[in-house]
Amino acid sequence: MISTFICLHCGGTYLRNPRVKNQKYCSDKECRRANRRAWKKKNYATNKSYLQKCLDSQKAWRARYPACDYQKQYRKKHPEYVNRCRELQKKRYKKQPTVNITIEEIPLSKFDLSLSGIRIMNQSRILQVEKLMRIYGQLQPVVEQNLR
Ligand SMILES: [Zn+2]
Repeated sequence: MISTFICLHCGGTYLRNPRVKNQKYCSDKECRRANRRAWKKKNYATNKSYLQKCLDSQKAWRARYPACDYQKQYRKKHPEYVNRCRELQKKRYKKQPTVNITIEEIPLSKFDLSLSGIRIMNQSRILQVEKLMRIYGQLQPVVEQNLR
């Protein structure tokens, strides 16, 4: 007796394989994957030990491949990506309006008494100031009070 079934994924009609009970999917790769997904989804919802096994497996995988390392590893493995990003960033910097920065030496005596305790603390702060001037064309108050 020849019997057929309708595949739940692709909707095609196929001859039933006598070795497979309750056949619902054909042998097409996408349909087999759909069958697997459906089985997993059903097991996730009903089988607590299967769910726990999957969660443990995911946890172990995440421990082997920490999310924080992903970008680092990707950049190591794809130097062309890194170069492309650098070039694009250089272009973005070039697009920004340029402001001629003239840094003037001002003797401490010309400072107001209220400013005498203020100074720029380190190189990164100076770079921040320069960056802000390039972006906004004005100086943002990025100075720290010298507390002594
Ligand atoms: Zn199918």
